Amino acid sequence: MSARRETFLPVSVPAIGEEEISEVVAALRSGWLTTGPRVKRFEGEFAAYVGARHAVAVASATAGLHLSLAALDVGPEDEVIVPTMTFCSTANVVLHLGARPVLVDVGDDSNVSADAVAAAITRRTRAIIPVHYAGQPCEMDALRAVATQHGLPLVEDAAHAVGAEYHGCRIGSLGNTTVFSFYATKNMTTGEGGMITTDDDGLADRLRRLSLHGMTRDAWNRYTSAGSWYYEVVEAGYKANMTDPQAALGIHQLAKLDGFIARRREIAERYTAGFSGVRELSLPPVHPDRRHAWYLYVVRLKLDELGTDRAGIIDELRRANIGASVHFIPVHRHPVYQMLGYKAVDFPWAEALYASIISLPLFPLMSNTDVTDVVAALTEALRRWSIS
Ligand SMILES: *Cc1c(COP(=O)(O)O)cnc(C)c1O
Repeated sequence: MSARRETFLPVSVPAIGEEEISEVVAALRSGWLTTGPRVKRFEGEFAAYVGARHAVAVASATAGLHLSLAALDVGPEDEVIVPTMTFCSTANVVLHLGARPVLVDVGDDSNVSADAVAAAITRRTRAIIPVHYAGQPCEMDALRAVATQHGLPLVEDAAHAVGAEYHGCRIGSLGNTTVFSFYATKNMTTGEGGMITTDDDGLADRLRRLSLHGMTRDAWNRYTSAGSWYYEVVEAGYKANMTDPQAALGIHQLAKLDGFIARRREIAERYTAGFSGVRELSLPPVHPDRRHAWYLYVVRLKLDELGTDRAGIIDELRRANIGASVHFIPVHRHPVYQMLGYKAVDFPWAEALYASIISLPLFPLMSNTDVTDVVAALTEALRRWSIS
């Protein structure tokens, strides 16, 4: 019988150090409370890290996805291909622009395949949004081939994938635009925040403009001695800029990112070793040609070997004082998408995954003892409910 932990172990805890705290304080003392020099610095360092020409800091990944589609002129009558195994915002932003999200099923690695995308393309398709699930890149060569063949842009949802690599290239250097999330639970955080990267100069200008009311370039510094009071609004843009106190966090989180990912990988390896003999589980599939960013460690229950369901096992973990989560409730299951006519039978892989997945605690500050506690508690729960 594994012991109940004394303290609750959450699924994710941010790793904020003294460097971040002093930089935020310095940002506050500087008087730059909105977009300023720290945002510019963060954008430059982020672009260099992923190997992209441009990085545009925004208020969230959701805003980044929205602006990407807006900059590509997605609008009413258009379709955008979105995998159903994602966070709701990947699809919501398509609806915000009056377009139709065309949901597609995912494969065994929870990523969308090029074949599934190709099968969903119609003459109305205007963009494809691959999601790098859990931090493992999609099969980008095949996706890029389909996109190129049909003349369609790839807008990557890399909310999980900062620091991930595909065939030696960082995610962020491959798609037409790539969108990252710095939400509190993600691999690096600014509290709330996001980044769009692109190699396309025209797209970068448009994204910047759309992020700040549609004002002409560099309107962000109009209150400085270098700035001018004059600006023009050339289109009805949005309010989605990042602030300097957020960028202050981001600059130091980025500097620590490779260390965070190394620790995440170590924890993932410990889980994989710890669960290796457990019959009732399937462990996350890993493609050896890609660098996984290990945002999530998602196990799958073999439900036909168990006398309970996924909720039953999560309850057992909670009794052991261990947090767990589910990534994701597939988009097609949410009422607003049900109203658009999506049916569960059209997404057999996502349905099977959804019934069986559990995201285990995974964050750089977790101790090896924490990992051992999770392995012990889950193994014990599975043994208790095993029907063989
Ligand atoms: C977290 C997440 C988002 C949204 O990120 P925000 O920065 O909170 O807007 C989008 N897509 C996926 C797959 C996510 O996990």
